[in-house]
Amino acid sequence: MGKSNATNTREKKFLLIAISIILIIAFVTSTVIFSVYYFSKYSKNPEITARAENIILMIGDGMGEKHIEVASLYEGAPLTINSSLPEYGYVKTRSLTPGPTDSAASATAMATGKKVWNRTVSMFNGKPLETITELAQKAGKKTGLVTTKSVTDATPAAFSAHVKHRKNQSEIALQQIENSNLNVLFGLGQEYYAPYSTKIANDTRDYFTSFSQLSSASKESVFCILPDDGISTISNSEETLRVLTEKALDILSKDNPNGFFLMVEGAKIDTMSHDNNMQGMINELMAFDDAVVTALHFARTNKNTTVIVLADHETARIRIPADAEANDISDKWFKSSIHTMRDVPYFAFGPGASEIPDEIDNTDVFLIMKQLFNIP
Ligand SMILES: [Zn+2]
Repeated sequence: MGKSNATNTREKKFLLIAISIILIIAFVTSTVIFSVYYFSKYSKNPEITARAENIILMIGDGMGEKHIEVASLYEGAPLTINSSLPEYGYVKTRSLTPGPTDSAASATAMATGKKVWNRTVSMFNGKPLETITELAQKAGKKTGLVTTKSVTDATPAAFSAHVKHRKNQSEIALQQIENSNLNVLFGLGQEYYAPYSTKIANDTRDYFTSFSQLSSASKESVFCILPDDGISTISNSEETLRVLTEKALDILSKDNPNGFFLMVEGAKIDTMSHDNNMQGMINELMAFDDAVVTALHFARTNKNTTVIVLADHETARIRIPADAEANDISDKWFKSSIHTMRDVPYFAFGPGASEIPDEIDNTDVFLIMKQLFNIP
């Protein structure tokens, strides 16, 4: 005689529950082990003994190693980025969110030393995370941010505001105006600044909306928020990222014995890569390279200045065919239109540059800058 149908069903149910429990335990255990492994290992705990008065952090948004290679191929020679900064290595870019990071989480990692979820701007669990900008100000330094897109976009926002979601750009503008204490803020974003136009200029701060006004800057702080087509990539134009970087360095270094922190972003390298527009990407990267020339020139004449050039993540998985020549450069070399998890290169010049490990995490960028500034 076989078992009854009822017993059979009960056994099947039991087996199903047992398998489910085992699968759940296996899933939870492997997730915990992975997380503990990943997040206990991510920082390389760099130990920097050198000290710098000034730091210029230059972020090519979306600028992977292959982006720089394509631009070099186009130019027929290495760029300043990959030929004039003596130290280089790689940066891991992961955020807490599975998959590739976005600019908000990656900029937050560099600005605060903390991993956060994508879209978050220098906050975790509803609380603000202290930024290198705020720490530098506490140490008596001047601070500035320069970008080729809106000053309220994720990268500059992470260095000057604390919001739960990067899309809260009006709130970011308001925090930059009321709380950031920045000495320099240059970029686009008039739509977010216009509503506050009456409260931006004051006794200590100039508020400009065009390049031509910048020559009359006289106060200790200068916000210049340009129209959306306001920054050129043509290298001999007087309205480029290079010119903004020169002006920022003038303002930050003038009559200032305590040093400064300046972040300069080539923001549209990412935009052009999302669009798979190779010529546009090259133009943006070359304009960023011109700004690197300016930063290096400053660092060579002001010896206590460290320049770090890097990216927040790679965008659009560029692949360069073997033996490719300049004439072969093509939009088809982009193999996706989204961010990737590739490591990105860093390049460094000045005090402490040779002490940076060959491989770092994006959170280490904060630790390195903090040590260079001798902030405990
Ligand atoms: Zn992007």
